[in-house]
Amino acid sequence: MSHHAGEHSLPELPYAYDALEPYIDEQTMRLHHDKHHQGYVDGLNSAEEKLQKARNEGNFDDIRSLERLIAFHGGGHFNHCVFWNNLTPQEDYEDPHGDILTKIEHDFESYDNFKAQFTAAASSVEGSGWGMLVYEPGGDHLQTIAVENHQRELFASAIPLLVIDVWEHAYYLKYQNRRGEYVDNFWNIVDWENVNHNFEKAQSYEFPVEGV
Ligand code: MN
Repeated sequence: MSHHAGEHSLPELPYAYDALEPYIDEQTMRLHHDKHHQGYVDGLNSAEEKLQKARNEGNFDDIRSLERLIAFHGGGHFNHCVFWNNLTPQEDYEDPHGDILTKIEHDFESYDNFKAQFTAAASSVEGSGWGMLVYEPGGDHLQTIAVENHQRELFASAIPLLVIDVWEHAYYLKYQNRRGEYVDNFWNIVDWENVNHNFEKAQSYEFPVEGV
């Protein structure tokens, strides 16, 4: 799917606003999706339109700040899209399975090791950010990363498979300052079918240089 500048839109949630109760409450989901995520879509469109205008005028004096705006709002938009689809109502939850479980057990030695590492990464974000399980196609391995704000700082080619939003807007109404409790509860509503799907797609990406 490709867009012209300024034509991104907010996707609907793949479930009802109250579907993730009791772990993520309806009011948080409404604010998070309708206000916060919409804000990143609007910010991305606005930044792209400014960049289009700069190109039209041949004036790139603000290129650094425009690229930073696009990275921030674009990261915000795309991370939230991955996040919503990573989650499922508790009644549909299935334990980790399939190829992603095999790969997790290979790369982290056990599922419990992975879970502890991901939880630590998500809990260690300073301020606002994300915890992520990513696939790094150059080395064909999984890694966890803590991301500040919305931009990834590690592995430019890393593809997010499972992400958790640890900005306060994601949990503060229900959990206040108890980020750890929110992260612990996240494991009850992970959609492992979706993570398998993301892993399958990520493996089809061919890194430009082999064996690195
Ligand atoms: Mn968010």
